[in-house]
Amino acid sequence: MPEPTNKSQQEIKKSDESEKDSLDQFYSELSYWHVNMGEESVHAKRIPGKYRRIKWTTASLYLLFFFAPFLRWEGRQALLFDIPQRKYYLFSITIWPQDIWMLSILLMTFFISLFVATTIAGRVFCGYICCQTVSTDIFTWIEEKLEGQPPARRAMDKAPWTGKKVGIKLAKHSIFLFLSLLTGVAFTAYFIDVYDLWQKYLSLQGPIYIWTVPAVFLIAFYINAGFLREQVCFWLCPYARIQGVMADPETILPTYDYHRGEPRGRLKKGSTSSQVHGDCVDCHLCVAVCPTGIDIRNGQQEGCITCALCLDACDTIMCKVNKPKGLIRYMSLNELNGKPTVPLFKRARVLFYSTLLLCAFLGIGYGLTHLSPLDLMVIHDRQPLYVRLSDGSIQNKYTLKVINKTDTDMEVKVSIQGIKKGVLVVPSRVFKIAAGKVKPVQLFLKARPEDIGKGSVPIFFHVRSLTQPGMKKTYQSSFIGPS
Ligand code: SF4
Ligand code: SF4
Repeated sequence: MPEPTNKSQQEIKKSDESEKDSLDQFYSELSYWHVNMGEESVHAKRIPGKYRRIKWTTASLYLLFFFAPFLRWEGRQALLFDIPQRKYYLFSITIWPQDIWMLSILLMTFFISLFVATTIAGRVFCGYICCQTVSTDIFTWIEEKLEGQPPARRAMDKAPWTGKKVGIKLAKHSIFLFLSLLTGVAFTAYFIDVYDLWQKYLSLQGPIYIWTVPAVFLIAFYINAGFLREQVCFWLCPYARIQGVMADPETILPTYDYHRGEPRGRLKKGSTSSQVHGDCVDCHLCVAVCPTGIDIRNGQQEGCITCALCLDACDTIMCKVNKPKGLIRYMSLNELNGKPTVPLFKRARVLFYSTLLLCAFLGIGYGLTHLSPLDLMVIHDRQPLYVRLSDGSIQNKYTLKVINKTDTDMEVKVSIQGIKKGVLVVPSRVFKIAAGKVKPVQLFLKARPEDIGKGSVPIFFHVRSLTQPGMKKTYQSSFIGPS
């Protein structure tokens, strides 16, 4: 082995030093980051503001949707997924198994909307509408009403157990348990009519799932919103992990404008502004209001759920010290660094996800406008494909499934088209279908060989409602003869 020369020894030393420098820099950067390990509960302060109002509004919409099964609509439950009957009610719309693709598109629309929102504005879903955020917000609001402001709550957590503390904690946890149970019952009511459900609960009867689903919700919501809270957003939520790949330097997020804010410094007593510091007066209000307990001034962190409550907090302070609002504001990394920003409609990701979303909306629009209250399916009997009768004519057998999707009984008439002189052999061409039912009808179609040619001939079955004029449905099938 050749001995290292002086030059190479110097190079090795230099590279060791530069590695040590970069490690030092890495560790010093890391020390700015606060990784919430749940060592102490986050008791966030609540202050009024624009984003707090938006948060209450979106939370109310979420609650309205979640508790929608308690709403009645046209004499039945507004939202009901009746799995045994295989019918899904969305307000005035009834979706049958034949239209189930619409529910799939609806689900897809939800996920694509999530992608679009994340690309444009990061974890905005987490901040405003996620069930974990909403339930934690409600639970902490109750906590504030019972235990007081954050300093009083922290003091109570540390104080020894007294009769008063036991009473307050007992009341708080009873409310948490009741709300978690109510959430579970509301979710179960998506699958069974809520009147039936209460009847089953009161008579202590009913299928096993009406007991197990609320029990699972009770445990999950009580633990997640009552104890784990922001830890779920930090460590358990898979969406937090994948959002990194959807956001880019153009994504607008709540960001601290460090060019304007630094060097930060506290105000001198009696003064409302300082010439020697940046605009940040180091009041820590942005940290105090953060539901996940992070300091946005240290840069974007994975614990930020982009609820923008720190924007409200900082704007309040800026007004008090006579500085322009927006020291913390929604902006992109490129904007912060003074780089040119790309308009939304020119961003490839936004365009891609938006196109997908548009297609999904068009699919739903098409589905809704083409939902028919009368449906028809025709099954051609395959064994045998045809029979030759004693008079020489060819006969095919079919099963018609006529679906009455309306809420009233219906009388329909069946007819065919496509074969000249084709004879429909059926007990009656007119039959009744009960409301919301499927009527299977077996029938035979006879034709003379000279009228059908060789092989198969396309034919059309029509059903027309006699009770609701204008309602009709056509199904294309085929008549098979000897080839
Ligand atoms: S840093 Fe601001 S936007 Fe992010 S979670 Fe905390 S309060 Fe919400
Ligand atoms: S609220 Fe604004 S001024 Fe106060 S510490 Fe946060 S960034 Fe600085």
